[in-house]
Amino acid sequence: MELRGIGVSPGIAAGEAVVVEREAVPVFRLLLPADQVEAEGDRLRRALEESRGQLARIRDTLAREYGGAHAIFDAHLLMLEDPLLVDRALAVIREQRVNAEWSLRVVADQLHAVFAELSDPYLRERRRDLDDVLGRVQINLAGGAGAPSLGRLPGAVVLVATDLTPSDAAELDWKKVLGVALERGSSSHHTAILARSLGVPAVVGVRDATAAVRPGTTVLVDGTRGRLVVEPGAPALAGVRETQERDREEERRLQETRALPAVTADGHRVTLRANVEFPEEATAAPAHGAEGIGLFRSEYLLGRARQWPDEERQLEAYLSLLEQVHPHPVTVRTWDVGPEDLVPAGPTSVNPALGERALRLARRAPQAFLGQLRALWRAGARGPLRAMFPFVSGPADVAEGLDLVAQAREAAVKAGNPVAEQLLVGVNVEVPGAALTLDLLPREVAFASLGTNDLVQYLLAADRSDPRLAPHYQPLHPAVLRVIHGVVEAARARALPLAVCGEMAGQPLLALLLLGLGIEELSMRPAAVPRVKAALRASRMDMLREVAAACLRQARAEDVHALLCAELRAATEAAGAEAALSS
Ligand code: PEP
Ligand code: MG
Repeated sequence: MELRGIGVSPGIAAGEAVVVEREAVPVFRLLLPADQVEAEGDRLRRALEESRGQLARIRDTLAREYGGAHAIFDAHLLMLEDPLLVDRALAVIREQRVNAEWSLRVVADQLHAVFAELSDPYLRERRRDLDDVLGRVQINLAGGAGAPSLGRLPGAVVLVATDLTPSDAAELDWKKVLGVALERGSSSHHTAILARSLGVPAVVGVRDATAAVRPGTTVLVDGTRGRLVVEPGAPALAGVRETQERDREEERRLQETRALPAVTADGHRVTLRANVEFPEEATAAPAHGAEGIGLFRSEYLLGRARQWPDEERQLEAYLSLLEQVHPHPVTVRTWDVGPEDLVPAGPTSVNPALGERALRLARRAPQAFLGQLRALWRAGARGPLRAMFPFVSGPADVAEGLDLVAQAREAAVKAGNPVAEQLLVGVNVEVPGAALTLDLLPREVAFASLGTNDLVQYLLAADRSDPRLAPHYQPLHPAVLRVIHGVVEAARARALPLAVCGEMAGQPLLALLLLGLGIEELSMRPAAVPRVKAALRASRMDMLREVAAACLRQARAEDVHALLCAELRAATEAAGAEAALSS
């Protein structure tokens, strides 16, 4: 069986599937060995017991502090003892040989169907109570000993999941992930970006993938062509090995560009840097010929605990980045998280993408930001480190951020730490408000980098992580090109160095357009650097400028794409077959 999706990380891989649904916590669907079935039943009983204890304590505390009876908790307790739920779940474990988490999922689906049949709207609404109670048991299962976890996968597997949040992705043991297939997600979804950056083939937007794949079956993920094949035959598996060998060969060929300068055929020098999520991955930057790190997504340091890392741990991470890309610079983007990404979660917004995230969170959690900026001041004493604020919407936000930078310096000096003489601070231009006010930003701002992943979503009101909106999420939309053009002009007028660190920078065809529009620095996943370099070395800058000017006159993204393909074919062919496909 073949399911179609959107290929977001090129390459092909096959292996045993591990299936994960995403609820309050990731819910694994595992096939158990026969001798583990008894123990699994016990694990469920313990989680139920723990949940009952918690609910009874909540009920008693409420009664003590506020008086009165709280019938809703009694109702929840009854649900946890109801044989309809408990016995059925135990039976599912026994009969289907699946884990406790999955047995609860199966029973929840059955009970939802029962609730849906009820004619009384009040009773129908009780399904929310059921979800609440089951969510608690799932959390207790996940926290207990022997729970399956993304950090401890059973072996090298292909992950088939509803969705993986950025914090799931941070927890995941990527060394054991051969490939990823998600039902949700899109090309600019954070997990897709991470898979690309780590070179793990991935497909997103694969409808019904978790229902179609039984755990333990072999699946094939083809991230280049956007397919998930369930139980592929022997010829398809042999094809995987061949394709992997061809990809490796092409990779070797492109690696030959590593030591060559990033310069166009008519002598125009460009800077190519790397985007990095995990400090231990930073060696991939020099290995692919990147001149330093243009974007370190520091929030991955929050890790699976989803807690702010302390200043010393951060210092260590930032120093290790500097060391790995020496003598080139490192740009650390300050925390780009919302309250929903933390444990315990803060008050969340209905729409987190428009919520109290990044610098906005500094009003609620100033210490987290001051701690990060202190670590940056200290690490900056040892090498060319720069700080960048994400998600700013205009000059006032930047002024607040700069105030924190000054406070952090003072505190670090007071504590007796050596600090950088100067910490260059830049702005990630990804909210239209910032793009339109670049000329008004405080003069202390030393550089800017266009975050096109978010800029596109905010300009076009198209959620970057929703596969249904993929046709509306258009990096080549005339509005996007106009805004980039405007930002280039505003940056030039105040001699502000300007880069692009969104995914556009790593796609050869789009990277050439950006250069034609006047961008001189591109930051991308490390493996994209050789391809972009090959493409630009095969291009002339005067030609790129002409093509970009013509693109700015097009009314539709499709027309821009067609024009780029027609005019720049030779250059993108130099970047290899994958570039032609992925652009
Ligand atoms: C962007 O928005 O383009 C960007 C570089 O940051 P992220 O993808 O982490 O939001
Ligand atoms: Mg962004």
